[in-house]
Amino acid sequence: MSLIRIAGAGPSGLAAAITLARAGRPVELFERREDCGARFGGDLQGLESFSSDRSVLDELRDAGLEADFAHRGFTRGFQFNGNRADLHEFSQPAFYVVRRGTMADSIDQSLKRQALAAGVTLRFGESLDPAAADIIATGPRQRRPYAVCRGFVFKTDAPDLAVALLNDAAGLKGYSYLLVSNGEGCLCTSLWSSFRRVHQCLAEARRLLLERWPVRREEERPVGGWVHFSGRPHWREGGALVVGEAAGLQDFLWAFGLRAALRSGVLAANSILAGDDFARAAAAQFEGFIKGGVVNRFLWEVGRHGRYRAPMAALRWRGAERLLRDFYRYNRLQQFLYPLARGYVRVMHPHLTV
Ligand SMILES: Cc1cc2nc3c(=O)[nH]c(=O)nc-3n(C[C@H](O)[C@H](O)[C@H](O)COP(=O)(O)OP(=O)(O)OC[C@H]3O[C@@H](n4cnc5c(N)ncnc54)[C@H](O)[C@@H]3O)c2cc1C
Repeated sequence: MSLIRIAGAGPSGLAAAITLARAGRPVELFERREDCGARFGGDLQGLESFSSDRSVLDELRDAGLEADFAHRGFTRGFQFNGNRADLHEFSQPAFYVVRRGTMADSIDQSLKRQALAAGVTLRFGESLDPAAADIIATGPRQRRPYAVCRGFVFKTDAPDLAVALLNDAAGLKGYSYLLVSNGEGCLCTSLWSSFRRVHQCLAEARRLLLERWPVRREEERPVGGWVHFSGRPHWREGGALVVGEAAGLQDFLWAFGLRAALRSGVLAANSILAGDDFARAAAAQFEGFIKGGVVNRFLWEVGRHGRYRAPMAALRWRGAERLLRDFYRYNRLQQFLYPLARGYVRVMHPHLTV
């Protein structure tokens, strides 16, 4: 059986490798860094479960991926704009806080263990030229990012907490957040424009969040990175399949890309195993996610004035659980607004392909 070569051992490449190896295919997985998760430094990320009726953990299990990484489900979280704080409660976890990095309980290391157990050959510290790969899973590739995220992680004895801060001085066109999960904390800002203001925004996010929630912190360490998006992902490049953020697959509203990265890796592997057309399957599976993201970003940016009063009012009025579910399923209103939203994004984010 022919060897499958994968470039990139992030979540998308690992998910593809595990699926292929479990089906008996020989797989070589190349990671240019020294270990899985080395792109991150212990960041807490949200593995979102709010975008569909199906729990993300059930989805992983059905795909054959074990959730033997530290994860804590959050059924409540605050939205805060510097003045007003709204508490939103969900009937089931809206997201699971996971760790990204090289520590044993991170999602990256859990996937690495599963890949090794399935028989994948992992080659650390080795780049694979995408032109020589069967699957390209290299993460961000575009020259210009669309969002930047900076912050710090810390140890704490504070109880679990999730707060999203909507305030342009603390995260221009984006948001900042404070997460505490099982003794670990993370405070970050994200900007969708004027990236040079990131340090200023982080200082303001720190001030506003810690004044209102004075969480005790020890061993602060900086974290952060860039995020990429394409409104027209390339699912194929030469003979290779392209998955995850390498394809530009990313939630354009808030940059929740982890679930889609995993899903696309599994889909690519299954397409190879079944001899199906991956590009067609991926376009069908992710079209709503991508187009809905464009509309959500448009609504977010035009509604952000007055300290995000409009999105906050909408979340209160409809309830966060219902509203999020609705706006991640590419509903009729989004379909109607899509041409306008795409025009807006082309003008406001001219370096993006939409
Ligand atoms: C600061 C920050 C916070 C985020 N927060 C969240 C969040 O809360 N929730 C969420 O869902 N998403 C979040 N995201 C997005 C999420 O991290 C990505 O969507 C996800 O990691 C994409 O997975 P991937 O496998 O496609 O790419 P990556 O995770 O980037 O993995 C790609 C891997 O390929 C390797 N590589 C690159 N080129 C080569 C090559 N030529 N040969 C070999 N190896 C190569 C890289 O070193 C890397 O390890 C965040 C992103 C950032 C930057």
